[in-house]
Amino acid sequence: MKITAAEIIISAVKPEQYPKGSLPEIALAGRSNVGKSSLINKMIQRKALARTSSKPGKTQTLNFYLINESFYFVDLPGYGYAKVSKKQREQWAKMIEEYLISREELKVVILITDLRHPPTKDDKLMYDWLKYYQIPVIVIGTKADKIPKGKWDKHKKIAKETLEFDPSDKFVIFSAETGLGKDQLWNELLGYIKN
Ligand code: GDP
Repeated sequence: MKITAAEIIISAVKPEQYPKGSLPEIALAGRSNVGKSSLINKMIQRKALARTSSKPGKTQTLNFYLINESFYFVDLPGYGYAKVSKKQREQWAKMIEEYLISREELKVVILITDLRHPPTKDDKLMYDWLKYYQIPVIVIGTKADKIPKGKWDKHKKIAKETLEFDPSDKFVIFSAETGLGKDQLWNELLGYIKN
C-alpha cells in the first residue's frame, strides 16, 4: 500500500464528533504500551503521526486518522493500565462500546497483543467482546523482533489457544522495528477497504 496522505481528523470523545461521510474504518485496540502507536506509524510510514507515549493510559480519545482520503484508522484508547480511577475506566468502556457497537463504517478491529507473552486477561475480554458482537478481528502478535524466529509459531499457537481464536479471524506476526508483517497486514486490510 502506497501511503500518499495521512492526517489526524479529530480526537473524539462522543459520537457527534465522529467524521461525517461513509468511508470505511479500521479500529485498533490493545493494552497500553503494547505498541499500538508504533504499529500505526509503521503501517503509514510516518515517524510520529500516532503519538507513541511513555505514559500509558494517557490517551482517552478516539483518534481518527484519514489515510489516502479513502479510509480511517481509528485509534482506540489503550486498556489494562492499572493506575486509572474507576470513573476513568467506566468512561473508557462507555466510549469504546458506543463506537464499536453502533458504528456502521467499522469494518474490522486490529487487536494488538505482545507476541512474547500469552494474551492477558484484558486481551481475552476484548476479544470475547468483539466476537460476541460478531466484529471481524485481525489479531496482531507484535514485538516479534524481541524473540527468536524459531519461537514465533509456538507463541502464535499459545496466543490462539489462550484467546480461543475464531478460525475465521486472521493472526499476523508483526514488528514495528523491522516491518515484519506489514505487507501481510495491508493485504488483509485491503479486503475491508475496497468497496
Ligand atoms: P502504545 O502505548 O500501545 O501506543 O505503545 P507504543 O507504540 O508507544 O510502544 C510502547 C513501547 O514499545 C515503545 O518503547 C516502543 O518503541 C516499543 N515498541 C513498540 N513496538 C515495538 C516492536 O515491534 N519491537 C520493539 N522492539 N519495540 C516496540
